[in-house]
Amino acid sequence: MGILGECSLATARELLLLLTHRGQDASGLLWRDNGEFSESKTMGSPAGIDVPDTTSTLILGSTRYPTSGRRVVSNDELDRFVGPFRRGQLALTHNGNITNIPSITRDRYHCDTEFITVLLDQLIDKNDGSLPDAFREFDQFVDGAYSLVGLLGDKMFVYRDPHGFKPLVFGRAPGRIVVASESTVLDMAGVPLERDVYPGELLIFGHGGSMESHSISQNELHSHCFFEYVYFAHPAARIEGQLVYDVRFRLGRALAQEFKRRGLVPPDYVVPVPDTSRPAAQALAEELGVPMREIILKNRYLGRTFIAKSQRERDAMAKNKYIYLEDKIAGKNILVVDDSIVRGTTAKMIVADLRRRGASKVYFTVTCPPQDHPCYYGIDISTSSELIAAEAEEEQIAEFIGADALIYQTMNGLVNAIGLRDLCLACLNGEYPTEHARRIRAAVATNAGPPESRDYERVIE
Ligand code: SF4
Repeated sequence: MGILGECSLATARELLLLLTHRGQDASGLLWRDNGEFSESKTMGSPAGIDVPDTTSTLILGSTRYPTSGRRVVSNDELDRFVGPFRRGQLALTHNGNITNIPSITRDRYHCDTEFITVLLDQLIDKNDGSLPDAFREFDQFVDGAYSLVGLLGDKMFVYRDPHGFKPLVFGRAPGRIVVASESTVLDMAGVPLERDVYPGELLIFGHGGSMESHSISQNELHSHCFFEYVYFAHPAARIEGQLVYDVRFRLGRALAQEFKRRGLVPPDYVVPVPDTSRPAAQALAEELGVPMREIILKNRYLGRTFIAKSQRERDAMAKNKYIYLEDKIAGKNILVVDDSIVRGTTAKMIVADLRRRGASKVYFTVTCPPQDHPCYYGIDISTSSELIAAEAEEEQIAEFIGADALIYQTMNGLVNAIGLRDLCLACLNGEYPTEHARRIRAAVATNAGPPESRDYERVIE
């Protein structure tokens, strides 16, 4: 997130809270005050960021989801792992993941945001302070997903990689410009959404509302991450002109067609796994002509299992993640709707919980097709061994989670629901849009590497 224009730091922290679901490892705010950078970082949610009771006209904010570098385990590590990072007159933060750091430098970095800051600083120097020229060169070096927002002197800039993997939007109002991964931040800041930053586009904003747009790099086809629509983004976010809520609703409609095709006994209730799958469950219920009932309630005091630090922590969290409406379960046929099955941990637990409470049948539907390839672009599923669909067939997964039927979204259903042609679907079909990621996959196929390492942390010649 970036803000140019007068804003209190307390308000900036509130705006950053709207991105907490994108990363809960740690968070940070950085601001410029009389030409000097100051910053405050914390483990966990932005709510814990300590800020002085003052305003700034240049602010960056970041919530960390560690696809690069390890988890933050103590306050001493915040400076090393958590953005925004700074170097001289440059400060920046980033969403995404660089796939080729070990293959282009022997220097060790704590995370890819630190690497980007150092590289960009060198390239700005080399190109006599020209950001457009620095980014032209930057794109020659790096492979991966990078939506960046930075400060250089008294300007704010944003850059989105040529594939446009990760969302990045901006808006302008008199006296204030806001950029963020999700449009909800702009809504709360009272700044109308102007548009998405185009893939390969550099925008440089100045005080007084000036904006320069530079087309740095062009790709005919873009690769917007489909998983943003299915899981990651807030339902009120608008990405590439699509309201995430509407996409999730259409995903439910498409799933209903799959359910009908199977000729199964109709359910008594459609039940969403909170919170992401609610719109899909609503649509499914409407299409099947049965009620939706929220009999699985979220324990709000836990984070997302997806973001947990280890399998042990994930298992412990999954156990305490949901609270059930006991009276509504016994003797019922229940159709559960979830957004994805990654490791299968949560699905297995939900089915067992419902059966223990007397459910007659449990159907499990998933708004996403089977994910059987790792993601190298900003979701921490970085090896195939973490994905149940990479190891097992659909019937085996149904058996593993204990469901009477398992119904996945189809590829067509997914693409039609999103309504965009230029999507990254690599974790579904193995077609990685970038050169280095394809080389990683080829190398992994012949040599799996150390089990503890992420595929993209290996040196690929
Ligand atoms: S591989 Fe999957 S999760 Fe990763 S960017 Fe592509 S679509 Fe998104």
